[in-house]
Amino acid sequence: MTTSSIPPARPFHYPRPKAPLHCGKVSLQALARRYGTPLYVYSADQILERLQLFQQAFAGREHLVCYAVKANSALAILKLLADHGAGFDIVSGGELQRVLAVAPQAAERVVFSGVGKTIPEIDLALNAGILQFNVESEGELELLAERARKLKRKARFALRVNPDVFAETHPYISTGLREHKFGIDIRKALGIYRSVAGNRWLQPHGISVHIGSQIRSSEPFGSAVARVHKLVRQLEREGIPLKVVDAGGGLGIDYHAGHFDAAAKVAEYAEAISAALQGYNGRLLLEPGRFLVAQAGALVGRVLHTKRNGSKTFVIADAAMNDLIRPALYQAHHEIVPVSPRPGKKHVVDVVGPVCESGDFFARDRELPPLRAGDLIALLDAGAYGMAQSSNYNTRLRPAEVLVQGGKARLIRRRETIADLLAPEQITAQ
Ligand SMILES: *Cc1c(COP(=O)(O)O)cnc(C)c1O
Repeated sequence: MTTSSIPPARPFHYPRPKAPLHCGKVSLQALARRYGTPLYVYSADQILERLQLFQQAFAGREHLVCYAVKANSALAILKLLADHGAGFDIVSGGELQRVLAVAPQAAERVVFSGVGKTIPEIDLALNAGILQFNVESEGELELLAERARKLKRKARFALRVNPDVFAETHPYISTGLREHKFGIDIRKALGIYRSVAGNRWLQPHGISVHIGSQIRSSEPFGSAVARVHKLVRQLEREGIPLKVVDAGGGLGIDYHAGHFDAAAKVAEYAEAISAALQGYNGRLLLEPGRFLVAQAGALVGRVLHTKRNGSKTFVIADAAMNDLIRPALYQAHHEIVPVSPRPGKKHVVDVVGPVCESGDFFARDRELPPLRAGDLIALLDAGAYGMAQSSNYNTRLRPAEVLVQGGKARLIRRRETIADLLAPEQITAQ
């Protein structure tokens, strides 16, 4: 395959020399003028393309792509995905309420993950009739049985097993080793399924595994699913047939410049999983988050100042760690590009935000074209775990969000106001 035939990994591009950066057919300069900065811009077209890559790669077997809501929980994005057949992987009652708000009929396509589900969250999900609870401990399974009996609603459950597979990624987002808090030791799972086989409020429905996030190689996914498949066969021999294997999420992207062939990546991933599931004819669930939305999004900010301190040059932007915390939290790399191409010699700079923390940086010692106060910059690959992990630290208003589809841009979340922020507070005793 020649490089030119590899589809672009990102929907952001300069349509002509000297033209500003565009998302699809929409100029980011125009969007910044209209909606202000910092501003998140997402391409609906790319999100759907990525969803379809998964749907096509697994077309040969019964499957459901359950988008991991925590990666980006914007209602408009959930609606877009629900309308195109996606299910959802949720980790809280709040995320379930988001799904129900945009697509109540999608409840039957929801799986509920997470190590610490509360009674109100479990009840909400039972009443909504979700597809499956991914249970992470024996205590949780007992609680689920108790709530199901109380509400007279049978609970379909899967054990989330911990396969003890190492996946090369940042330690904060690795989850598949025995030492992590996630899942149930795979060696104990058989006994647990057995022990609840007679419970009329619990239906052993599936088995799930999720080994971490931003995993670039397909091999650990294959190993984890192979271990799960072995257990599925064992259970079947014991008269506990399962309908679903949930392979989790975690497929990584390339945050660096250069070509990234998303279609080839998904094909390789599908191959590894399918090989591990040879002979399995049940339903397969997949829970991609980052892979569907990360590269579809950019955070647009404006340069407030540039300054030199000793030997360092700082570019101070109006966007900050409260808007996009990944660099501060995981030393994550985001490509940064000027929205209007800047001719001239590149300089080595630190790109930072205004928040009062030395951890408030987007890039250190990065070569960038000359930037001046007033220039717009775009932080690429910010569609996943960007807005979703944002905060109001320093009483900063969270960014507005825009979704671009074809030639059209639509505001999907207005910028917060100070009134929004102060509303829940009370100054004096009531
Ligand atoms: C976070 C998470 C995902 C999604 O991970 P990505 O790396 O965004 O694909 C899927 N399943 C579970 C259980 C998760 O916790």
